[in-house]
Amino acid sequence: MKPVIALVGRPNVGKSTLFNRITKSRDAIVADFAGLTRDRHYGDARLGPREFIVIDTGGFEPDATTGVVQRMAQQTKQAVAEADAVIFVTDVRAGLSAQDHEIARFLRTANKRVLLAVNKAEGMLDAPQIAEFHELGIGEPHPVSAAHGQGIRSLLEAALDEFIFDEDHDGEIEDGSADRPIRLAVAGRPNVGKSTLINAWLGEERLVAFDLPGTTRDAIHVPFERNGRRYELIDTAGLRRKGRVFEAIEKFSVVKTLQAIADANVVLLLIDATQGVGEQDAHIAGYVLESGRAVVVAVNKWDAVDDYQRQMLERSIESRLGFLKFAEVLHISALKRRGIGAVWKAIDAAHASATKKLSTPQLTRLIHDAVEHQAPKRAGAFRPKLRYAHQGGMNPPVVVIHGNALEHVTDTYKRYLEGRIREHFKLVGTPLRVEMKLGT
Ligand code: GDP
Ligand code: GDP
Repeated sequence: MKPVIALVGRPNVGKSTLFNRITKSRDAIVADFAGLTRDRHYGDARLGPREFIVIDTGGFEPDATTGVVQRMAQQTKQAVAEADAVIFVTDVRAGLSAQDHEIARFLRTANKRVLLAVNKAEGMLDAPQIAEFHELGIGEPHPVSAAHGQGIRSLLEAALDEFIFDEDHDGEIEDGSADRPIRLAVAGRPNVGKSTLINAWLGEERLVAFDLPGTTRDAIHVPFERNGRRYELIDTAGLRRKGRVFEAIEKFSVVKTLQAIADANVVLLLIDATQGVGEQDAHIAGYVLESGRAVVVAVNKWDAVDDYQRQMLERSIESRLGFLKFAEVLHISALKRRGIGAVWKAIDAAHASATKKLSTPQLTRLIHDAVEHQAPKRAGAFRPKLRYAHQGGMNPPVVVIHGNALEHVTDTYKRYLEGRIREHFKLVGTPLRVEMKLGT
């Protein structure tokens, strides 16, 4: 599971700037799930091969009594509770304030690993003012400049120091053979029907669940077998077992959802037919795409909507989840146990596509055919020349193309190649990445 780092500190110290610096900020997920977590932002980050999740919070003023400020403080407390480590951001130009001391007091009781960042320290990384921050009792101050990108690397090194990373998880050519369990995450908003579906599954005779919730930092992985095939359900909803039945005790956790998606081979994204596709659904879907996981979309509660609502739904899926065109969209009722078999078929198909072996000769021939049909555009004096292709990874499949002047291949042309590859290898339910090998 990816570790989670929360950024906390009073307003204006530069948390958002630091967040943007650390994450690929364009994929930041604004957690507005059910209005509970509006002020926390979640983003994906990596330091070399180590991947982690960053949470940005609103300002934090523990003493204030006004509504907004109190809510922010609450946000920060929740973010700290969700995090494995905390970066406490302060501002060297403003100096230490009473609020900083308040926050430090809170963090000392929080029982989490805390790093102290002293921001806005561009041009003064060794200045005596930095040492004053020792006073907070949080440990060694790390001078950084979020705006200028200074000191960030060593701050993150220190923050990630104690975590163990599963470094061979991503991008490797993973053996897609049937004796490895398919890791499955069921994602979706609160009340979309995750628990109902999982319990419907577990009630199936064909599905044999094993009684060994391997506990990795709170997350349950439920191993089971269906028609002789092994799966592992990765919990997204704080599921706890009560006899034969699973119950979501914690209604929704953004962090758990993001971690489960990152850890899964296939994500089943549930949409609530009675609610339509909301912004949060699109956020989760965007994250799934970004993480490269295979995905199946199931519109649940299909029993509870009329024809008009069904039409509106189709439209909202097209407009809001259009970027998941490669995914199968199914209509189900977890409650009435309808359409469930189709979900399994789609999960298996998506996994098979995501882990398919794409042979180098076939890929290369395919690329040559594609070029013959439609050559890449010349860019000034350069005409990209695509020589050969090989597979660079699975889940998601990555196709690496070698040749000359490949930096001039346009995104449109890449999408064209992607389409040809998809069609040829009949890839469904998985993102596909086409990469140009530059400098050869
Ligand atoms: P937040 O309220 O803690 O999220 O703070 P912001 O990220 O919004 O930053 C507050 C202000 O500080 C903005 O005007 C930023 O441009 C500025 N700022 C952030 N980081 C730095 C830095 O490293 N150096 C300087 N000089 N200004 C910074
Ligand atoms: P979770 O929060 O995603 O785990 O959602 P739950 O499984 O707890 O379901 C929330 C509510 O939706 C419950 O009242 C369920 O009975 C109801 N529900 C779940 N699936 C369906 C369905 O297919 N049709 C209908 N009509 N209601 C459903």
